[in-house]
Formats: sequence, C-alpha cells, structure tokens
Amino acid sequence: MEPFRIKAVEPIPFPSLLERRRMLSDAGFNLFRVPARAITIDLLTDSGTSAMSAAQWAALMTGDESYAGARSYERFETVVRELTGYPEVIPAHQGRAAERILLGRLLRPGDVSVANTHFDTTRASVEAAGAVAVDLPAEHDAPAPFGGDISVPALRELLSGPDGARVRCVVLTVTNNAGGGQPVSMDNVTAVRRLCDRHGVTLLLDASRFAENAYLITERDPAHAGRPPRDVAREVFALADGCWASLKKDGVANIGGLIALRDAELARRCRDQLIEVEGFPTYGGLAGRDLDVLAQGLLEVTDPDYLRYRAQTARWFGDRLAEAGLPVLQPTGCHAVYVDAAALLPHVPPHRLPATALANELYLAGAVRVSELGTLVFGRPHPDGGDDLPAPRELVRFALPRRVYTKSHLEYVAETAGTVVAKAAEIPDYRIVEQTGPLRHFTAVLAPGEPAAPPGRPAPGPSSPRPGPG
Ligand SMILES: *Cc1c(COP(=O)(O)O)cnc(C)c1O
Repeated sequence: MEPFRIKAVEPIPFPSLLERRRMLSDAGFNLFRVPARAITIDLLTDSGTSAMSAAQWAALMTGDESYAGARSYERFETVVRELTGYPEVIPAHQGRAAERILLGRLLRPGDVSVANTHFDTTRASVEAAGAVAVDLPAEHDAPAPFGGDISVPALRELLSGPDGARVRCVVLTVTNNAGGGQPVSMDNVTAVRRLCDRHGVTLLLDASRFAENAYLITERDPAHAGRPPRDVAREVFALADGCWASLKKDGVANIGGLIALRDAELARRCRDQLIEVEGFPTYGGLAGRDLDVLAQGLLEVTDPDYLRYRAQTARWFGDRLAEAGLPVLQPTGCHAVYVDAAALLPHVPPHRLPATALANELYLAGAVRVSELGTLVFGRPHPDGGDDLPAPRELVRFALPRRVYTKSHLEYVAETAGTVVAKAAEIPDYRIVEQTGPLRHFTAVLAPGEPAAPPGRPAPGPSSPRPGPG
C-alpha cells in the first residue's frame, strides 16, 4: 500500500464521452495537444509531475532567495555531496540544460559518446557539440533482470578498434529509460569502469532515476539484497567520474537539474557556461526555494519503504493491465509500464501508428492519457515520400507520477484498458496530416482512418462518410 497518507487534494475532471471525442478531434488526435483539464488520469510522464511531501512544502517556505551564496544552495550542495561523493555541485533548471552545459564542455567535434542508450535530449546535446552518439544496449546478450546494461563486449570492441581513440565518454543512463526503464547492474558499472580506466575515457551517469536503479539492484542481484538503496546508489556514483540528472524524476520535485563532478577544471568551465545561459552558479536557473525542495526530495527518494511501494505498484499495475488483455513488457521497472501496441493491433501497420491508435482509444474510453513511443515519436518521414520509416517497436507507455495516484486510480485505468481490448479489432488507424521537425510528436496533427470492420459486420464502403473514432 501507499507508504503515506494524503493531506492536500486536487479534484480531477471527468469529461463525458461527447467531450472526450470533441477534445481529441480539436487536438488533431494528438494527446500532447489535449488540455489537462480534459484528462481524468494523466500517465503521460513521470517528469515534473510528483506530489511534494509536507517536509518539501515546509522547505519551500524557508528558501533563501539571495542572488549569490544562498543558504538554499548550501543545503543542496551538502545533500548532493553526501549522496554522490562528488565535490563539484552545479544546479541547473532541468536535465537537458545540465546535459547541454556538461557535454558541450566535454566533447569536441568528431568525438564519440557511447551509452547504454542516450536519452533523446542527451543525444541532441552530443550532436550539438559536433560529436557522435553511439548506443550499445546489452538487451540482446543480457535481457532481464538487468535489461538496462550496456554491452561490455561491444564496448570493449569499440574502444580497442580503430575508432577507440575518438571515444571521449561513456554514459550510463540509470535506469535506462529508452530501454523500458530497466536497471543497470552493479557488475555492469564495475566492468565499464575498468574499461574506461584502461582506455583513459570519462565515465558519466545520467542519474535521473538513480534511486529506482539502486532499489532494483537490491531486488534483482542477490549480492546486494537487503542493502539500503542509498548505500547502493553511493557505490554506483563512486564508480563514475561524475553525473548529471533531471531532478524532475528522482528529485521528487516539479523542476530542477544538476551536474556533479570530481574534475574541478571541467566544473569551472561548466560554471562559466552556466553563468551565460542559466544564471549564477549558486542558483542555476532555479529559485532558492526550489533548491530547498530538491535537497529534501533527494533525502526522501531513497527511503526503502517508498522505493518498495514504487516497484510493487509498477509490478501490480503491469499485472492488472496484462489481465485486462494488454501485451505488457516484463519485467516492469519502477517509473512506467510499457505495452506492445503492435501485438494488440495487428491490423494497423507501423506507418498507420498502432501505438497512437491505442493511446487515443484509451483517452476516448476513459480520459486516460498515456504516451506513444512508436512510429510517431521514433519513426521518420520516408526520404522519397513513401510510407514513414517505422520505429523498432510500437510501444505505449503508462508512466507513473511519484506519489500522485492511488491503487484505485490505477484500477480505473486497468478497467478502461479492458474496454479497449474488447474492441481492439475495431480500433481505427491514423495518418499524419501535418508535421514539423524531429520532435514532430509534440505538435503533429493526425486523422483517423476508417474503423476496422467489427467481426460479423462488413467493412464500410469507400463512399461512406468518414466516421469519428470510437
Ligand atoms: C527527463 C530526462 C532527461 C532530460 O531532463 P529534463 O529535465 O526533461 O530536461 C535526460 N535524461 C533522462 C534519462 C531523462 O529521463
């Protein structure tokens, strides 16, 4: 059960079916464009959507808003040093600002950054520095229980091959968001550390979900069973040379980011850049009160009761969705449950956006919002104007905001999923009507195709007017 009780509440909206249909069609059938006031349960992302604790709200009131050298910064620095062991602590307003500053100082044109998987904003920062981002996920040689690992054989081969001298850094994203939120094992971090030492390469963590990764290590690796997650997290940080993080995840706060390093000279260059683009080094684009909230969040997030609840919730929710008939990816991690839309909707080809079709149907059925991680997000327009180049997988992500929804909210989502599964064969496909740029999913306008014929009824003829979805 939830290891907290509720002290402040916020009503949630219950739009009617008619309103849901209108909202979705007004939004160009793109859930990013649906206003939050028309969403009952919002599982779009776990980023910046956490509920703060009473202690965080109290910390907010004691924030020091001095421009330079605020008490709030000192508290933040103390907590981050204690957690990571890195002496240099630099706040930023969110994760991508931290990445842009750090990777922009570290990488030179032609350098290579290797990762278990670069998060999309991380890849963008590597490429903005003129460097090349190479992903070497181990998912093929080591699936569960540590599906977030980097492939050590592939990394070894790259480092000792002709391009080895170009590798400037290895990045371990913990947990591996792009790989389904799966953890990176202690053995993997240790092996990567050895390779980095041998080749003189910097090892960095994208530590946005460091606490969830540490907890999953205690659950899945008998060598670390029963250890306090904070100790495990410290050990992981100790193996790397530095980190950055989006504190909108395991900072359990609504905004914030961080760079923490051992290298004082690299930190000095980061601070110079920080002053240009974020603000003075003791506030980095945040208010003093935000730094106090983050310091408190970084203390709370490694609470073993909280992390056990978080992992158990994801597992339980994954089981409920599977019982409702959704093809759930197993094992679940902590921050989300992923579903294979292609397996549920075999009648929808990738360029007709099966993951979008499932996500939109969940909205129509119960005002539940999830995110598509399929061809709309990861596919690309065909260079010759043919069907879109498909994404490797057609996934839908049910992200879990921290401490926000109760078990009965998630039960409602599973019931909604059940009604969608029951008419899966009739769910219409979608096509893209308008799109711009590589982040097309945020703004694209879509249109539903003909709903597939329900069993026993003939398909609508070409002359029938285009019906709305659902
Ligand atoms: C969210 C996230 C980022 C980017 O952070 P923002 O705070 O959204 O800018 C980078 N890496 C990972 C793994 C993330 O989950």
